[in-house]
Amino acid sequence: MSTPPDLELVSLTKRYGSTVAVDAINHHFHAGVYACLLGPSGCGKSSTLRMIAGHESVSDGSVVLGGADVSHLPPAKRGTAMMFQNYALFPHLSVTDNVAFSLKMKGVDTATRRKRALEMLELVDMTAQAERLPAQLSGGQQQRVALARALITQPQVLLLDEPLSALDPFLRIRMRSELKKLQRELGITFVHVTHGQDEALALADEIVVMNNAVIEQAGPAREVFNAPRTDFVARFMGGHNVVALPQGRVAIRSDRIGLTEPAQGRLDGRIVTIEYQGTAVTLNLRATGDQDIAALIPEEEFFANPLTEGATVGLTWDDAAMHPLRA
Ligand code: ADP
Ligand code: MG
Repeated sequence: MSTPPDLELVSLTKRYGSTVAVDAINHHFHAGVYACLLGPSGCGKSSTLRMIAGHESVSDGSVVLGGADVSHLPPAKRGTAMMFQNYALFPHLSVTDNVAFSLKMKGVDTATRRKRALEMLELVDMTAQAERLPAQLSGGQQQRVALARALITQPQVLLLDEPLSALDPFLRIRMRSELKKLQRELGITFVHVTHGQDEALALADEIVVMNNAVIEQAGPAREVFNAPRTDFVARFMGGHNVVALPQGRVAIRSDRIGLTEPAQGRLDGRIVTIEYQGTAVTLNLRATGDQDIAALIPEEEFFANPLTEGATVGLTWDDAAMHPLRA
């Protein structure tokens, strides 16, 4: 098999009239990576994905796959495939015919189409439902069919736009691990759009955080979580405090904040609310300079010496826990 290609976005831009939905973004996705495009609604994730797929024209810049500019190729000629948020299955076609549809368009004969479709259905564990209509499937099953239908074209890059958002929370977590397993088995690049940071952390080798049409930060999941570089990334990834100190603004993980006696720490804080969370207890504090700080204290530690709302405590942390932020 040939080496899987890298995917590069070069100054990629999307304008809709006067709206700039994607503003000259640059990114290099290494072949075989599970990447998540993460950001709030309206930040330009879907537009980016659709430009990669060829379902949306590029206003400026280019999409480069394996060194070749594919920006102006039709979707079926790019080596990419897209799985849509609403699955977009044909209601009048059986599961098998839905999966085989793109091969039919390519003029592949019936027997070969069927055989390939059944292979794909086996891959997503849907062989038993092969002759059903989409309406006779659960949400999770429809999603697997949509996945099989995208994979039958043997893409080098699979593009998934919020693929789990239509599922209930339980199924979402199950399908999430199936997606990851499938990506590892196939060894192809997945670019998965989500607005959920927990989903991105659970799945991604690499997280690309978007905000207001630009990439705020990109890197390995742990790096983006542990060392956010902007206020936005620190707040959006969650689990962090943004604290203004004399030396500037820093991000500090909530679970890196320790408690001590008042005036013995770096800042004092008054406990506003206490939230029990099972394995830990969150203290929401109002600290020196009217700053809101959350401290996540392990359950046993908290209950060994319980505190009450209204109490004042000292807050401590290591130098290594501070990550300087640019505006
Ligand atoms: P996301 O997927 O991150 O929610 P989108 O890429 O869908 O963001 O949208 C980015 C911006 O572009 C938004 O302001 C949205 O309203 C606008 N937009 C998206 N699609 C269109 C379109 N077809 N026509 C006009 N504006 C659009
Ligand atoms: Mg979207």
